[in-house]
Amino acid sequence: MNNKLSPLIKERLKKHRHNINILLNKIIAYDHIAIFRHIRPDYDAMGSQLGLYYWIKENFPSKDVKFLGENHVSLSPRCFPNTDVVADSWFKDNKVLAIVVDTSTKGRVSDTRYTMGDYIVKIDHHPENKKYGDIQLVETTCCAAAEFVLSIILSFGNEYVLSKRSASFFYKGIVGDSNRFMYNSTSPMTFEIAKIILETGIKLSKVYAEMYQKDMNDLEITSYILNHLQFTKKGVGYYVLDKDEMEMLHLPPERGKDNIDLFDHVKGVEIWCSITEEAKDGYFRVSIRSKEIPINGVAAKYSGGGHAQASGAKIKNLDELPNLLKDLDDLIN
Ligand code: AMP
Repeated sequence: MNNKLSPLIKERLKKHRHNINILLNKIIAYDHIAIFRHIRPDYDAMGSQLGLYYWIKENFPSKDVKFLGENHVSLSPRCFPNTDVVADSWFKDNKVLAIVVDTSTKGRVSDTRYTMGDYIVKIDHHPENKKYGDIQLVETTCCAAAEFVLSIILSFGNEYVLSKRSASFFYKGIVGDSNRFMYNSTSPMTFEIAKIILETGIKLSKVYAEMYQKDMNDLEITSYILNHLQFTKKGVGYYVLDKDEMEMLHLPPERGKDNIDLFDHVKGVEIWCSITEEAKDGYFRVSIRSKEIPINGVAAKYSGGGHAQASGAKIKNLDELPNLLKDLDDLIN
């Protein structure tokens, strides 16, 4: 264990030590390593993926490392570089170590070729603990997969370096999944890890510009949504955008939830969601957030899941919306 790690981080990693040792030995042993994450990637999926990717490349320059999955509709390449294009033959011709980060269930892994890995490692922080892969490292007390992945690699030892580049990706993951350190999942360990990241010398203004840059069309979208906010009797706040509205706003489905934070800190709004049409796949995607009340039970009822204060779900059509809103209303006293 790295002597520089605080007692808090060491304690958090204690129960994972066996699998952490296996992971390091596998990283050392394999010449071909592929890093995966979930579909519809967010800051944490891509931040933990790219932080680990660059950490391996920089510490083991002779290894062939790839990061896979679909690009993000607006964050690639502004905030995260475009993913590697890899032929199936790369997986067939080589013994590949596949590491999947931030993905609770195998159905949500972006790029199913992780199954072609010779050895598969799952590293996650989601409460749903569905096992897949040869070993699982799951720590639900971490606010972000990036927090957990970085703590793991820091524990590998002082002989390894953490570059500014790798650290800034981990930072994006932590900031994204903690909603800028606002969710209750943010812990003393989160700040200890953030401190280690800042000590690498990353420039915060650059990181935040890459994450949150907007254009005029984004302001128009926000203005439209502000004019179409709705509230249930118990104060569940929501907005609905169907296919036509999204087309009119030039808003791709992947970005439907971009304005969900408009409800943050609104007095009387304990739970809120965005409901946006995924016309190509024939359903409405629901992102749900709350100040305190756990909402992942309701998300699970509607083909979803996630965290206590940030979950995702799906409904087939808007006829299902009243039931979903009632279930959310029922969570409020
Ligand atoms: P989102 O609303 O897409 O930002 O998702 C919030 C959280 O819920 C993230 O941690 C997602 O990984 C998780 N999540 C979103 N959709 C699903 C789903 N269909 N099944 C399981 N978890 C989900």
